[in-house]
Amino acid sequence: MNAPEKTIMNANLFSRLFDGLYDPNRLAIETIDGQRISYGELVSQAGQMANVLVDRGVKPGDRVAAQTEKSVPGLVLYLAAVRAGAVYLPLNTAYTLNELEYFITDAEPSLVVCDPSRAAAIGAIAAKVGARVETLGADGKGSLTDAAAKAHAEFATVVRADDDLAAILYTSGTTGRSKGAMLTHDNLASNSRTLVDYWRFTNKDVLIHALPIYHTHGLFVASNVTLFAQASMIFLPKFDPDLIIKSMARSTVLMGVPTFYTRLLQSPALTRQSTRHMRLFVSGSAPLLADTHREWSARTGHAVLERYGMTETNMNTSNPYDGDRVPGAVGHALPGVSVRVTDPETGKELPRETIGMIEVKGPNVFKGYWRMPEKTRSEFRDDGFFITGDLGKIDGSGYVHILGRGKDLVISGGFNVYPKEIESEIDAMPGVVESAVIGVPHADFGEGVTAVIVCNKDAKVDETSVLTALDGRLAKFKMPKRVIVVDELPRNAMGKVQKNILRDTYSDIYAKK
Ligand code: AMP
Repeated sequence: MNAPEKTIMNANLFSRLFDGLYDPNRLAIETIDGQRISYGELVSQAGQMANVLVDRGVKPGDRVAAQTEKSVPGLVLYLAAVRAGAVYLPLNTAYTLNELEYFITDAEPSLVVCDPSRAAAIGAIAAKVGARVETLGADGKGSLTDAAAKAHAEFATVVRADDDLAAILYTSGTTGRSKGAMLTHDNLASNSRTLVDYWRFTNKDVLIHALPIYHTHGLFVASNVTLFAQASMIFLPKFDPDLIIKSMARSTVLMGVPTFYTRLLQSPALTRQSTRHMRLFVSGSAPLLADTHREWSARTGHAVLERYGMTETNMNTSNPYDGDRVPGAVGHALPGVSVRVTDPETGKELPRETIGMIEVKGPNVFKGYWRMPEKTRSEFRDDGFFITGDLGKIDGSGYVHILGRGKDLVISGGFNVYPKEIESEIDAMPGVVESAVIGVPHADFGEGVTAVIVCNKDAKVDETSVLTALDGRLAKFKMPKRVIVVDELPRNAMGKVQKNILRDTYSDIYAKK
């Protein structure tokens, strides 16, 4: 008798996406200029590009860095890099040359892909680490796609183990140096599969993809989930409320950051009628205001499903598909993910309803920070839980609530002040759109609680009216010492309020008094 043939299990994310049965004729991606790319074409294009990468000297384990505008070839580059066993390193398109220099010298990629307009400047940086440069423009044209068009489509997906790296994503680095989060094939594959089930994705779904593809949300959550479900996506180059509302008539899911939802609500075209074909609206990457959640429900009849994740961990929690999607909460731990709240000092687990540090463990959690073994060690507990840096609590029904980043905690006169608590009070005031509470150096208190608020245009809200309204609602030590009214809060591309910028801007307001 012949010995049974051994099948090689390839844990490569690309194999997990495409080695099973899939219909090559099924639509994968549609663009606004009318291109329609089938699954068969997507796999072929990834094969062609993988051949180019190998031809340019990319070996398994090498980093392939890309700073490119969002485009279908940009997504193909990600799939090709993973398929070739390389480690994909997407870079925010807003990064300056100075910032790129840090990422490129830290990650030491063997290939850097960039917009043709930056090829010379980035080439000079890449040369320092011996990396080659290829170009890819927003229109999908460049040396990379030119070469891919001439390359073979067949490519044997490089065998990778669960634990091998598929990507490095640099954290936004609002405190200290930006760190490269090392994500494995299994981190990405397991999390997307979980989300496909949890959010009930099928091949009938059509996702409106309006997020950037250099960040976890747009690259891994939106794209991988769609591809795992063999669903399709309408690929929009950027957030465009009119285009999104128009696309809803033939779509089923939107994934967005909270600013998508607040801006869509400003459009009178957002109605029950215009959203009737949709089955799911997902929000994440920053807190969705409970008011926005309620307003969205009232206007469209859909409850936004809020979830919580981060670069280092992929997705950790989600509100339920069936059941209550609680405004202001990020839902339950996803299947296979453990979430606990601990005392930040001792690491001891805290009972429900108690505020502390959120820690997570599971197949979704990254392998560590690139070339930072000590930093990695200090962010994990001995039992394998990752210390997220987010403060929050788990309520009596098991819903997780985020109360802000640990570094945003304000310590005033020795008392801990959780910004979210004060922000919620201020946000609920008539005429207030949103607020950000920060701690600013203060001679007496260490830090002075400071509220920066945005109001409706015609609202008669000022420092005195806010302080009067808060009086008696908050303990004295939590009361803002100053309330500053601004036109808008500084936000990064993912809609996160940049409290570090606010802290810098107002760093000396108490010194002047
Ligand atoms: P990033 O690594 O850029 O994805 O940022 C991750 C951080 O965003 C988390 O650690 C949280 O502080 C924040 N975040 C993500 N999703 C949510 C959410 N639904 N509500 C509140 N904060 C969130």
